[in-house]
Amino acid sequence: MSNIISGKEVAAEVREGLKAEVEALVKDTGVRPGLAVVLVGDDPASQVYVRNKKKACEKAGINSIEHRLPAETTEEELLTLIGELNADTSVHGILVQLPLPDGLSEDRVLETIDPSKDVDGFHPYNMGRLVTGKPVFEPCTPLGIMRLLHSTGIDLKGKEAVIVGRSNIVGKPMAFMLLREHATVTICHSRTRDLKEKVRGADVVVAAVGIAEMVKGDWIKEGAVVIDVGINRIEDGSLVGDVEFATASERASYITPVPGGVGPMTIAMLLSNTVRSAKLSASGEKAVAS
Ligand code: NAD
Repeated sequence: MSNIISGKEVAAEVREGLKAEVEALVKDTGVRPGLAVVLVGDDPASQVYVRNKKKACEKAGINSIEHRLPAETTEEELLTLIGELNADTSVHGILVQLPLPDGLSEDRVLETIDPSKDVDGFHPYNMGRLVTGKPVFEPCTPLGIMRLLHSTGIDLKGKEAVIVGRSNIVGKPMAFMLLREHATVTICHSRTRDLKEKVRGADVVVAAVGIAEMVKGDWIKEGAVVIDVGINRIEDGSLVGDVEFATASERASYITPVPGGVGPMTIAMLLSNTVRSAKLSASGEKAVAS
């Protein structure tokens, strides 16, 4: 039976630490970190995410500035708001909740955010910095996964890491973070041949697909570390990951549960990026050369 990596616990530690950092920052410099969250339209899942982010900010002492815009908002209006937030010195992080309603270009919106306030790490500048090994702000979900891997104490050097899923928000940035720690990385996706064999060779498996329990327990190498990013609601209403947990946990040395694994880390890393941005701003240091 494997060790369960509790994202809930690691995230709680991170958030406690951030709360103390925020208190110290306010005391020493008068600067309170501010995160602007922009929500366009009325997607129910996005509303829940935004509410959770707001609550987490408040608990850590971060100012949460919410902008709710109607689904009919034009791209020009949205870009104007982002321009205002870019110029607002009380805002250290800007997050535009995705997906955006049809007709709004996610690329144009993300590229308008000042990279030094891009706490989601999705701006091409920040992606480029990550790829070249000089990261500024890194995407929150893979960043949280790195924290979870570090919490196990395992050395990633020379390990075979297999990532299932090649999205811009998880799979691809994950690959560069693992590479930075000298893992040998394979990215698998929907066209990969013989996925089972690829996973069987892995010392570290990161599953980010979005298909309930598609990575079978008997694919997992004895002693591997398994990180399950997937969040899938099944027929009985419960949440399961992309990995068949019951069987995988008999073989893995460490495994993340769903829920309570990767999920809580994503928000914790968003807060962490926001606090870092505020600290850089308070010290007069520029996160991004202009
Ligand atoms: P996505 O839909 O953007 O990408 C899915 C990837 O899976 C694609 O690259 C695709 O090639 C690959 N894929 C699809 N079918 C496959 C197959 N049969 N075999 C191998 N690969 C296949 O997904 P995403 O945004 O990266 O999210 C993946 C999952 O992670 C979802 O369940 C999502 O809800 C979850 N997620 C969780 C968090 C979190 O904070 N815990 C954050 C982001 C995403």
